[in-house]
Amino acid sequence: MLSTAPAVPSADPLLDVHAFRGALETWLDTSPPALQAAQVAHPVYAERVETMRALLASLHDAGWARYGWPVDLGGNGGTIAHRAAMWEAIARHGVPGMALFEHLEILAPTLAAHGPTAFVAEKLPLLLAGRELWAQGFSEPDAGSDLASLRTTAVPDGDGYVINGRKIWTSWAKYATWCLLLARTGTADSRHRGLTAFIVDLRDPGVDVAAIEQANGTDELAEVAFDGVHVSGDRIVGEVGGGWAVAMHILSHERGTFAWFRHCFLYQQLTACAADAPGRNDTALGNALLDLAAVTATGHAGVMAHAAGSPLGPKAAYTKLLLCASEQAVQDCVLAGDTDLAAGRQDDEVALLRQEYLFSRIVTVYGGSQQMQLDTIAKQMLGLP
Ligand SMILES: Cc1cc2nc3c(=O)[nH]c(=O)nc-3n(C[C@H](O)[C@H](O)[C@H](O)COP(=O)(O)OP(=O)(O)OC[C@H]3O[C@@H](n4cnc5c(N)ncnc54)[C@H](O)[C@@H]3O)c2cc1C
Repeated sequence: MLSTAPAVPSADPLLDVHAFRGALETWLDTSPPALQAAQVAHPVYAERVETMRALLASLHDAGWARYGWPVDLGGNGGTIAHRAAMWEAIARHGVPGMALFEHLEILAPTLAAHGPTAFVAEKLPLLLAGRELWAQGFSEPDAGSDLASLRTTAVPDGDGYVINGRKIWTSWAKYATWCLLLARTGTADSRHRGLTAFIVDLRDPGVDVAAIEQANGTDELAEVAFDGVHVSGDRIVGEVGGGWAVAMHILSHERGTFAWFRHCFLYQQLTACAADAPGRNDTALGNALLDLAAVTATGHAGVMAHAAGSPLGPKAAYTKLLLCASEQAVQDCVLAGDTDLAAGRQDDEVALLRQEYLFSRIVTVYGGSQQMQLDTIAKQMLGLP
């Protein structure tokens, strides 16, 4: 559980994180129907999306999901510590993961900090309530690790820009309304200096979303083509030419603070695994627990730094590596301890465990590959050439 700084007196008692956590636990203990539906294993991804949408709607309408977000953007005030407390409580109440609401802790903090205020004030509440979803359009068929080489262009046109290009591995694009897209507004060789971040409506003419079925059977990734898509000039995040800074802000959340949110669910899975399989390989369990403890320490430091307004910077790469190691260690334990999973039993619960196991093999790629995180640590933290 996240420890928090002493409470600041305020008119709303729930701005105190301890009071918020207690009141939310009481609400969740009443087992609202949307919580019960989200506790059930849904291996069909579209069903998981719908149950998570309903859970978020319920949390938003009761006020909980609005804590941790600025009042002028439709929130109830508070900090990331409120959001951490909410997802910790949800994990403890048996929901298996955040699913596509991971963007609440990857994209949304950057939208809140650098997005066009009027647009974000209108759209953030819809994301908090599960009514509109988002995707992140960075990677391209020939630009992944070397993101600064991306070729999607945004050319000035009337009151805005016209976008042409292709994105790939775009998580949740099939379910999303909005895409935070990185495109080149500078010259072809301008690298990271010539990029701008746009908010593109995925329903617009010229956008084609083709889902990619993954080895684990889900369709959460997609290839997205943009063919002459017009974006108005008031949908720019940050500055024109400042897209790299926006991308780094997002990645600092994806690699850093997000680890705290994900690790709450991994803890629940490991605890259940230990309880279900007495006499199993205790060394593997112990190692997975140690890996998770490392994420607890660094993830906690990251969340507290953000709550205090300090950016994480390159330290986020270190947290991301620890999260990858613990995700794989936990899923290894689940596989070793669950004979049904290993023997290929077919039911929804086992199917979901199998999906999670297979997904854990690719966590070392999203948000920048393991090698690129090591490169960041070597150059930016250790000062190596
Ligand atoms: C589950 C998942 C979800 C994703 N979601 C999104 C998303 O929502 N939006 C989005 O934009 N992208 C997303 N991605 C894409 C992800 O960011 C890229 O896959 C990643 O950045 C690697 O790029 P690449 O696949 O092009 O591999 P490449 O860059 O071609 O790398 C291939 C291999 O070479 C290594 N390598 C490359 N360059 C170097 C170097 N200089 N030094 C050492 N090793 C190097 C890499 O580490 C990797 O092992 C997702 C990926 C996955 C797996």
